[in-house]
Amino acid sequence: MEMTDIHAESLMRFLDRSVVNFYATDTVRKKLDEEGFTRLDPRENWCIEPGGRYYMTKNDSAIFAFVAGDDAPDSGFKIISAHSDSPCFRIKPNCEMITEGSVVKLNTEVYGGPILYTWFDRPLSLAGRVILRSDDPLNPVRRLVKFDRPLLTIPHLAIHFNRAVNDGNPLSKQKDMLPVIALGHTDADDRHIILSLLAEELDVNKDDILDYDLSLYDTTPACRTGLHGEFITSGRLDDLSMVHAAMTALLDSDNMSMTRVMAIFDNEETGSGTKQGAASPVLEHLLRRITTALGGDEEAYFRSISKSFMVSADNAHALHPNYPEKQDPTNHPIPGNGPAIKINANCKYMTDADSAAVFRSICERAGVPFQYFVNHSDVAGGSTLGNILTSQIDLRGVDMGAAIWAMHSVRETASAADHSFIIRAFTEFYNC
Ligand code: ZN
Repeated sequence: MEMTDIHAESLMRFLDRSVVNFYATDTVRKKLDEEGFTRLDPRENWCIEPGGRYYMTKNDSAIFAFVAGDDAPDSGFKIISAHSDSPCFRIKPNCEMITEGSVVKLNTEVYGGPILYTWFDRPLSLAGRVILRSDDPLNPVRRLVKFDRPLLTIPHLAIHFNRAVNDGNPLSKQKDMLPVIALGHTDADDRHIILSLLAEELDVNKDDILDYDLSLYDTTPACRTGLHGEFITSGRLDDLSMVHAAMTALLDSDNMSMTRVMAIFDNEETGSGTKQGAASPVLEHLLRRITTALGGDEEAYFRSISKSFMVSADNAHALHPNYPEKQDPTNHPIPGNGPAIKINANCKYMTDADSAAVFRSICERAGVPFQYFVNHSDVAGGSTLGNILTSQIDLRGVDMGAAIWAMHSVRETASAADHSFIIRAFTEFYNC
């Protein structure tokens, strides 16, 4: 098998397992456990050896792994950051709504900015985290749950009731987007369908379920499309393709001089403002703790940061064949032409000429093509992790990503070749 196919296959299996943020983190955690990384407990004293491999999780939905450099703490950090979350629908408390004829739908809230109508008429299921009663009220038990079978669908209104549907159809998140889960529920238990389902799946008492973080996900697996399998189509490519590339590069690289860090944050899609998001001090605290556990002081931390570099990896928009006018006339990434370096004059991205040059050199050393993404000047564009992190830590760094189509659709499309290019570039970054 060609390397591109090996990387694509590995990414698709990763995407299929990582159906929501908690499972993305869990998939990474399991891989790191398999590879012999040591889990660090933030509540304990850390013993870190140069050359050792470690990770910690935050809120079960963010994960930070590192390989301590032989010359640490003074040699600095090479960091790749990405995010575990994707736009979706969260299940509200008291979610069951019984409609006429005993049809049961669920009350949901939109998470992030999904393209709403891509979620219609799909075989959806539920996954996330359940919180169970324990003897210690401050520390309830946390368990992940994923129903591997399709459980729900959001049925679209028939075209016969709205002949103008194809002329543009504004959607209400509260009215149009509620998924249907059951028929014929008329007994007193109607209001506890989700609790009963969770209790059965986890083999616990319904009364012990205190709360949950549950989201909808599309059960359709990732696949290749295109005449020659050029494309990968899947949910959550933004940003799990970058999580997968960072993890693969961390495991494939072997330069032991600087400390190699992979930082996977949650809640990028809602602005990063949580304890497990990029706007929190979680990464700064991690880097400080690594420094002190290796015998460095405050001064060593600052020396180390000033030698560090970060690749903020989040997907970019590929030139859409039906809408070329949406993109910048001279800087519009094409699928298959390599990682896109993201540039913004108003500093929405952390990239500057210095850091773009660093990433370009890395691509050249890896034998990987690269391209630039700049917004059309009349389009506002999005934001990402990089410049949020620089408000915590004064790092040099670059924003980049794979160029994809249909960002925030329930299924996005990327190039298989680009994914392999990015793994090679990340591995070169950690190794150079
Ligand atoms: Zn993203």
